[in-house]
Amino acid sequence: MGQPASSRPFHRPRPGAALYCGKVSLEALARRFGTPLYVYSADQIVERLALFQAAFAGREHLVCYAVKANSALAILKLLAGRGAGFDIVSGGELERVLAAAPEAAGRVVFSGVGKTPAEIDLALEAGILAFNVESESELDLLAERAQKLKRRARFALRVNPDVFADTHPYISTGLREHKFGIDIRQAPKIYRNAAHSRWLEPYGVSVHIGSQIRSADPFGSAMERVSKLVAQLVREGVRLQAVDAGGGLGIDYHAAGFDAVPKVAEYAAAVESALAGFKGRLLIEPGRFVVAQAGALLTRVLYVKRNGNKTFVITDAAMNDLIRPALYQAHHEIAPVRLRAGKPRPVDVVGPVCESGDFFARDRSLAPVDPGDLLALLDAGAYGMAQSSNYNTRPRAAEVLVEGAQARLIRRRETIADLLAPESI
Ligand SMILES: *Cc1c(COP(=O)(O)O)cnc(C)c1O
Repeated sequence: MGQPASSRPFHRPRPGAALYCGKVSLEALARRFGTPLYVYSADQIVERLALFQAAFAGREHLVCYAVKANSALAILKLLAGRGAGFDIVSGGELERVLAAAPEAAGRVVFSGVGKTPAEIDLALEAGILAFNVESESELDLLAERAQKLKRRARFALRVNPDVFADTHPYISTGLREHKFGIDIRQAPKIYRNAAHSRWLEPYGVSVHIGSQIRSADPFGSAMERVSKLVAQLVREGVRLQAVDAGGGLGIDYHAAGFDAVPKVAEYAAAVESALAGFKGRLLIEPGRFVVAQAGALLTRVLYVKRNGNKTFVITDAAMNDLIRPALYQAHHEIAPVRLRAGKPRPVDVVGPVCESGDFFARDRSLAPVDPGDLLALLDAGAYGMAQSSNYNTRPRAAEVLVEGAQARLIRRRETIADLLAPESI
C-alpha cells in the first residue's frame, strides 16, 4: 500500500513488524550497505515538490529547491527531472547542479552574503536565472564581473523585511540585526541606480526570513512588505518580473500524524494573498520541507551501559553524521527498527564522539534495546548528511535512495583512505 503524501515514508507494514522505507526493509538495507546509513524515499521527495508546484499552479512559478538542505547529486537530478529549479549558496553547490542536471542551469538562483568573484564568474558563465544580491557592494562587484565577461546579470535584491519568525535563533534571518539581505528601506534607491547599468538587469526581489518556521503568518507579513516595495518600484519606473519568497517552511519533528498537505496550502494562501496585486512570476526556495521527512539515519546500537541511574544507548552514528541535536537542540524521533517487548524506559542515545554534546536524545523514553539492534533517527533528510563532517576521523555515512521497490546506493561509504588523501606529511 502506498503512503499518503503527507506522512513519513517510514512505517511498519504490519503492527509489530520491522520498519520499512516504502517497500524496502531497513534491516535488509543495513545488511547490504552497513551502518550508519542515510536512507531517503525518492517517492516522498517527488510528492513534496509536487505539493508546492500544485499550490502555486494559479500563476507562473518556479520551485527552486534549496540545495544546502541535502545536496546529493541523485536527489538534485530527481528534482530537476520534475521541473524544479535550485537555490544555491556557493559555487560548489552550482557545480553540483551542473554535474547532476546541466540542463537546469537556467533555473538556478544564487543566494548568500559572501559570493566571491570566482563564484560570480562561474554563475555568469553558467547562465543562471538570477543572483539574489545581499549588499550594495556585491551589486557593484556583480556589475564589474558581468561587464568583464560580457554577460548581462539578472538580479534580485534580497531585502530584509524586518519580520520576526519564531524559530531557533541560529536559523532566523529576517530581522535587521541579522547579517542577511539589504534593509528594505534602502532597496528603491539601489534599484534606481542599477537601472542605469548596461550590465545589470533588475529581475526581481527576494526574501528569506529563516528556517523551520511553523506558522504561515510571518511569510504573509514578509510578502506584504515585499508587495509594497514592488508597487512603489512600479511607480518609480522599475518593473520587476519576479518575486522570490525564499524558503523556510517548517515540519513537525515530533508528531507522527503531521499532515503536509494543509501546511503547504496555508503557506501558499498567505503568500498569494499578500501578492494579490502582483501578476509576475513567483519563485520559492523550500529545502527542509521537501527532503526532511523523506530521510532517516539508520544506526546500529554498539553498547548499552548504565552509569548510576542513567542508561546510555551508544550507537555507531554520531554528531559528525547528524549534528542537529547538538547544534540546534533539535528533536529527532528515534524508532527501533524491530520492536522488543518490554516497558519503555528513559535513556540517552549517544554517539562515540568525544564530546558530551554528542547526543541524539536525552531522557528519551525508548522500548528496550540490545547491542546489535537497529535504530532509525527520523526526519533526518534535511541538514543531516549536508552538515556531516569527518570529526574524530570518522568516514561519512553511505546514502541510499529508495524508489518504489528499488534501493540504490547514491553515495558510497567513505574510507579512511578518502580522508587521508588530501594530506601530506
Ligand atoms: C537555507 C535557505 C533556504 C531553505 O530553507 P529551508 O528552511 O530549508 O526551507 C532558502 N533560501 C535561502 C536563501 C536559504 O538560505
